[in-house]
Amino acid sequence: MLTTDFHPTGRHFLQIPGPSPVPDRVLRAMSLPTIDHRGPEFGALGLKVLADIRKIFQTQHPVMIYPASGTGAWEAALVNTLSPGDHVLMYETGHFAFLWNKLATRLGLKTEVIAHPGTDNGIPASWRRGVQADLIEQRLKADTGHAIKAVCIVHNETSTGVTSNIAAVRRAIDAAKHPALLLVDTISGLASADYRHDEWGVDVSISGSQKGLMLPPGISFNALSPRAIEASKSAKLPKAFWAWDEMIETNKSGYWPSTPNTNLLYGLSEACDMILGQGLDAVFARHLRWAEGVRAAVRAWGLPIQCADASVYSPILTGVMMPEGVDADAVRKTIYERFDCSLGTGLGKIKGRMFRIGHLGDSNDLTLVATVAGCEMGLKLAGVKLAGSGVQAIMDYYASHPAAVPQRKAA
Ligand code: PLP
Repeated sequence: MLTTDFHPTGRHFLQIPGPSPVPDRVLRAMSLPTIDHRGPEFGALGLKVLADIRKIFQTQHPVMIYPASGTGAWEAALVNTLSPGDHVLMYETGHFAFLWNKLATRLGLKTEVIAHPGTDNGIPASWRRGVQADLIEQRLKADTGHAIKAVCIVHNETSTGVTSNIAAVRRAIDAAKHPALLLVDTISGLASADYRHDEWGVDVSISGSQKGLMLPPGISFNALSPRAIEASKSAKLPKAFWAWDEMIETNKSGYWPSTPNTNLLYGLSEACDMILGQGLDAVFARHLRWAEGVRAAVRAWGLPIQCADASVYSPILTGVMMPEGVDADAVRKTIYERFDCSLGTGLGKIKGRMFRIGHLGDSNDLTLVATVAGCEMGLKLAGVKLAGSGVQAIMDYYASHPAAVPQRKAA
């Protein structure tokens, strides 16, 4: 294979909802020489990234950094807090909630799945909506013996483009006066959508490097609460590599029990400087605005947005549903081959029914206008009848809604 096959001219449009494009600044930081992970400089790097990532999770408590993908951090959250056979309540918002359930079952947990009832446009209604906290409250109230040990929620369902209100889930658990732990997957939410580990009373937040943090895949996180740390002392599921206790101890001086991914930590340090330098509020506002522009385009095309509830639209990605008889993956293939743009495939129960446009991380207005242009050309080539021009709609939206903080200031 020729290198030009991997690197054609111009920039590839990596518009999947993660891995997201890695900024040049982060790539350069990662290219520094690897250092001794037990040596004197490493501790300073470790302490910096551990402090920075707490600010991004909005927590005062320890955050575990694993050299693993998000799936590893899912497992870590469960094995550190639960025992074999424990009853866990999971809410099916989409494919990632489904996969987390599968993983929990394989670990020997007894999972119970709840979901918004019924179907919507031929797919499960709960795949088009966020978590209904009242269903969780009802279920927990019925569990008078407190058999349920944890409630597991996906904050930003990457397979659908729907977010869930985590503060409302916390309120539901409290209203039921139930002691279950709240475990939240914010793998694709963190550093793009507002997320507050401490304020929302989350016990374990799970995230990964390859989405809002703008890093390559390879790092994942568990942010802990004091209750989660307490639970880990009596949890009996087998754990060694994932165990929090040794990590918490060695992290105190900026080191890890085993070899951390040094170069990705250089990248994490740089990405945190970028994100915290801009300020979390500005980062969240930037994503909300981008998302609104992309949705304006989808509406102009006359195609349904996968998320059926406007109050929980994802700031990170938009799911675009295809008309009956159109294979979304065939449209994606055309857009990839003709316009060098990668879009997210439909996952699991919605394979072929929709594609996903990522609008997160190292992006800007023109990247997204061009992405929408690629989609519009691809849709037309696939014979999809469009009601109007999405390109015009996204241009109009960005032009008439300037960002609160301009990209650049001319002298
Ligand atoms: N959870 C969510 C919401 C995700 O988006 C992903 C990956 O995209 C995962 C879990 C799994 O993480 P990974 O593929 O990094 O193991």
